[in-house]
Amino acid sequence: MNQASWETRDAEVCWHPYTQHALDRETLPVVRASGAWLELADGRRVLDAISSWWAILHGHAHPKIVSAIQQQAEKLDHVLFAGCTHEPAVKLAEGLLELAPQGLSKVFYSDSGATSVEVALKAAYLTHLRQGKKGRNIFLALHGSYHGDTVGAMSVSDPQPFFQDLAQLLFQVERVSPNADSLRQTLEAHAGKVAGFIVEPLIQGAAGMVMHPPSFLKEARKLCTEHGVFLIADEVATGFGRTGTVFACDQASITPDLLCLAKGLSGGVLPLAATLATEEIYESFLSDDRASTFFHGHTFTANPIACAAGCASLEILKEENTPRKLDAIGACIENHLVNFAKEICVADLRRLGGIVALEISAPDSGYFAKLGDALRAACKASNVLLRPSGNVLYAIPPSCTTPEECKLIADAMKDVAMHAVKNISPQKTP
Ligand SMILES: *Cc1c(COP(=O)(O)O)cnc(C)c1O
Repeated sequence: MNQASWETRDAEVCWHPYTQHALDRETLPVVRASGAWLELADGRRVLDAISSWWAILHGHAHPKIVSAIQQQAEKLDHVLFAGCTHEPAVKLAEGLLELAPQGLSKVFYSDSGATSVEVALKAAYLTHLRQGKKGRNIFLALHGSYHGDTVGAMSVSDPQPFFQDLAQLLFQVERVSPNADSLRQTLEAHAGKVAGFIVEPLIQGAAGMVMHPPSFLKEARKLCTEHGVFLIADEVATGFGRTGTVFACDQASITPDLLCLAKGLSGGVLPLAATLATEEIYESFLSDDRASTFFHGHTFTANPIACAAGCASLEILKEENTPRKLDAIGACIENHLVNFAKEICVADLRRLGGIVALEISAPDSGYFAKLGDALRAACKASNVLLRPSGNVLYAIPPSCTTPEECKLIADAMKDVAMHAVKNISPQKTP
């Protein structure tokens, strides 16, 4: 029997995330990965400049993480986390609380960034109820925010550009800008009705790596406390050194009431998430009445193999000082781009820690949509894996990335930008 290869059969059976299958028919068939590199079915090597959707923290197939996964799989593969516990979950919770801002004391595990956000939203809302404060039904979030694809997480995410068609399903959220006046005015306009303010601290990833200063977080912390509103920091993308400090909140010296973690938590290799909470929030659920239990849990909550990977990842982070390594990598890529940033097609070059963003402007802003497509097309031809977000090209590589690889990434970003801009330049018609 002459069967087509699995690469070709993909299109018959797989439905990919965030993919318009009518336009984007090609998928990269990946067979192996090591360090910062992916190996394709045809033997071609591609540099993973975006850490496989911002997840892979230290590099693919880090020996310590591989070995932790192997050992844990042989010992205890999975057990429910309601009424049972295990060492990897306890050790990882201790490790997280030690690294996290002072004042957080309990760890609630789940499986993805979106679920860590759902946990935070439900815990914030219910804590008010348990404390006898009814009517706090509104959440605040930033314009352009992104918090995940489940219904609660979509509600707090900006409906543009992804969730407009689902608006009827989503709950009420008031949008604010990242400045104290905007937040204060919105809190005052809805006094007594706000349950929580959720923020991607310092950098809004999916918005196109849009940044705000630590001073805003400081003021947000103060304002939330004054108004009895829980501050939820969504560090799903920024956690574990991406911004140059272990957590982005560290740069503002603030402690949120709830802290959402995922992506890099397991080293980025297994689905694992955590929501860290204050003792106040945890205690609000304690009661002789079973009805006030926190009724939330996923089948694979605190999966032992994922937690073991998380423990190994935290050890590496501490041994290698991953935040500093990522910061140096970001600086290296930025340095290679500084001159290019003077080109007229570059609207902005910005960096926070290991995240470098190059914002491209089209000659005619009406070509904006075309620019996105042109960037995507140019990325496909590259041997560096990049995924533009609108008109923003960014790099967020793993901490094993070498200076030579940084140069490859920067060169690829330049090439992709030049090609894309050239391809959409208005054609002169006679
Ligand atoms: C990616 C991301 C999420 C969603 O995480 P998933 O694991 O994809 O569900 C939530 N918040 C932020 C800030 C993210 O970058």
